[in-house]
Amino acid sequence: MNPADRCGGEAGLAILYRGPLASCNYDCPYCPFAKRRDPPELLAEDRAALARFTGWVAASTDVRLSVLFTPWGEGLTRRWYRDAMVSLSHLPHVERVVIQTNLAARVDWLADADPARAALWTTYHPGQVTRERFLARCARLAELGVRFSVGVVGLPEHLDEARALRAALPPEVYLWVNAAEGRSYDAAEEATWTALDPLFGNSVRPHLSLDRPCHAGETAISVLGDGTVRRCHFVPEPIGNLYDGSWRTALRPRTCVNAVCDCHIGYVHLKPLGLRDVFAGGLLERIPAAWPNG
Ligand code: SF4
Ligand code: SF4
Repeated sequence: MNPADRCGGEAGLAILYRGPLASCNYDCPYCPFAKRRDPPELLAEDRAALARFTGWVAASTDVRLSVLFTPWGEGLTRRWYRDAMVSLSHLPHVERVVIQTNLAARVDWLADADPARAALWTTYHPGQVTRERFLARCARLAELGVRFSVGVVGLPEHLDEARALRAALPPEVYLWVNAAEGRSYDAAEEATWTALDPLFGNSVRPHLSLDRPCHAGETAISVLGDGTVRRCHFVPEPIGNLYDGSWRTALRPRTCVNAVCDCHIGYVHLKPLGLRDVFAGGLLERIPAAWPNG
């Protein structure tokens, strides 16, 4: 049986979608997309690609789907991502629709979404927004009953802000910490960040993944704007296309071809880690099942 055709359990299909959009309103020093502007043609292309994707999702009623939008830049400043979140949240066969966001844009539009299905993966970028403003957005999300996680990049200059944010957030909101790219953490630093995010240990060292079984390419896929399907964002080889139906026969148990997997949206699918159980019910928005008691 094709894994995507099964119903129940966690055997639906998780789709990580990334269109051409690569612009952002923020100016984070650690990001290549900082203050980048997309030309109007690229924005039009991104919008059309997203419309095609949401049309495909709406029509694919035989598969239980969950969707995580992972734009290179910021999507929620664009109306078409907000509209996609709202419309997909109302589809009975869509279990969850999530987007990674810097939370710069207002969130009131989520009042039109189904709060049981729409969720946000938010990141706080100190220096780009005040903590007060970020917390006000979080409070509005809570009012709207929308599930969300909050994260920070574990840079030493962020530590005070991360601590203050953790202290100000309600305990039921999970705060995750991503190890900064290219940085190694000694035991004391690791303990410091683990005090804020008990799961920081998963992020602090890349996971050896070569030849290890991974759900990616079986019950999770990466989709680009033109419909190219890959097992994940980190293995460039296409395994099919969404729009010609070839993705269906491509889904099968696979092992990783990369030496390491060091990004949460990848290694959460690496079978030996068992993280799908840890994040059951909140896999795409990065909320642990047992939070805040786990
Ligand atoms: S908010 Fe995200 S996409 Fe935008 S500049 Fe910062 S890290 Fe990059
Ligand atoms: S372990 Fe990571 S890089 Fe390898 S297939 Fe899975 S998600 Fe992709």
